[in-house]
Amino acid sequence: MAEPSPPVPEAPPVPEAPPVPEAPPVPEAPPVPEAPPVPEARVVIENCAVATVDADDTEYASGHIVVAGDLIETVGPGPAPDGLTGVVRRVDGTGHLATPGLVNTHHHFYQWLTRGLAQNSSLFDWLVTLYPIWARIDEPMVHAAARGSLAMMVRGGVTTAMDHHYVFPRGAGDLLGAEIRAAREMGVRFSPTRGSMDLGESAGGLPPDFAVETTEAALLATEEAIDTHHDPSFGSMLRVGVAPCSPFSVSTELLRQAAELARRKGVRLHTHGSETVEEERFCKEKFGMGPTDYLASTGWLGEDVWMAHCIHMNDADIAAFARTGTGVAHCPSSNARIAAGTAPVPALLKAGVPVGLGVDGTASNETGELHTELRNALLVHRLAGGEDALDVRQALRLGTYGGARVLGRAAEIGSLEPGKLADLVLWKLDGLGHSTIADPVAALVLGAPAPVTLSLVGGRPVVEDGRLVTADEDTIAREARDEARRLARIAADA
Ligand SMILES: [Zn+2]
Repeated sequence: MAEPSPPVPEAPPVPEAPPVPEAPPVPEAPPVPEAPPVPEARVVIENCAVATVDADDTEYASGHIVVAGDLIETVGPGPAPDGLTGVVRRVDGTGHLATPGLVNTHHHFYQWLTRGLAQNSSLFDWLVTLYPIWARIDEPMVHAAARGSLAMMVRGGVTTAMDHHYVFPRGAGDLLGAEIRAAREMGVRFSPTRGSMDLGESAGGLPPDFAVETTEAALLATEEAIDTHHDPSFGSMLRVGVAPCSPFSVSTELLRQAAELARRKGVRLHTHGSETVEEERFCKEKFGMGPTDYLASTGWLGEDVWMAHCIHMNDADIAAFARTGTGVAHCPSSNARIAAGTAPVPALLKAGVPVGLGVDGTASNETGELHTELRNALLVHRLAGGEDALDVRQALRLGTYGGARVLGRAAEIGSLEPGKLADLVLWKLDGLGHSTIADPVAALVLGAPAPVTLSLVGGRPVVEDGRLVTADEDTIAREARDEARRLARIAADA
């Protein structure tokens, strides 16, 4: 029989904690005296032609624009109203045309370092030549390339830039962060998209295996980019989008999950679509359908989606875009440079599809300018569809309001209307290149690239008298050249 265990001694009573002395009352802060209301700083632009690109295409042969803070306050004919307070600047726009700032809807900044290569190639050959070089990019290279790409566009009247970055070599640093930094330095409104490729050569894709990420890594990094950088507010300087690269470099699973991610986060979706006959053949062989049907089957049609190129589209594809509100980034120079074909823009517009203009990467459009795309769009569609295919006002609309619609920002930018953001450009049209063209919109679209006398983003100047306000062009050119040479060296040694 077990011995009874000895009684457990009672635990000594725990001494009560001494009372915590009450914190002394915090003295109330003295009331902050209310600041006297600061009159909104106003900038007045007068005596210029104005193309508002509003719904009625309202134009003034001589008109005014009043900017208050970051917004357009009034636009109208003749001089600005009398009695305005807080005017910090008056601009005499004699000999100029004022338009909304240009909106770019498709680009690849990093390609600034690989311009002028694969000069006589079609898309797939061009890509296969360039992928091994692109796979060596790093953060300083992307920063320099972004500065070059942005400087070129901003100097030429772009006030909202976009980038589609999809090459993320392991250990290359924060590439998306580098271009966001560059856009912030330049003072331009920016819509970077976090791209991706997960379908390497061994899995039946076009890019070499070393240039792709895993599906999981791509999705995680995309979500992180949205959480870190995306600002959905009115007047936002930065909206992030989700952008797997193309049907031939991305798995079906990545397309599906990317669409789900974008919708969960409330951001936009972007990719390349229907760019070449080779892409169409790839989709038909692999999925038994064309690119538009394939993308539709993965959730990729909708008002929150826009696609670059959309060249090889049949009537059903155009109808599907119109029905769903899917947008198009039209890139006429790039399409011509790699002989991809001509997008059916007149038919897309007729069907009500939102269409904007894109520079595309500068490895397939070495000028890197958007204002020349207005002219090139008009010319290629006249060649393809006759003299009524596209007129100068439609071309200007594509580059402004059309782009704003494609980026989902038509309520904020893209036209000169009271209450919208003051993103506008004053083009000089009284010089040699334009002074004999009476119609200012025709002068801008058909004439030589017009000098930018003033460009405002949210009321802040980014270009004055043809020069960047926020950066030094010569420094950017030198740094980009050095980084291009470093990239060429590293790629040659690999
Ligand atoms: Zn592209």
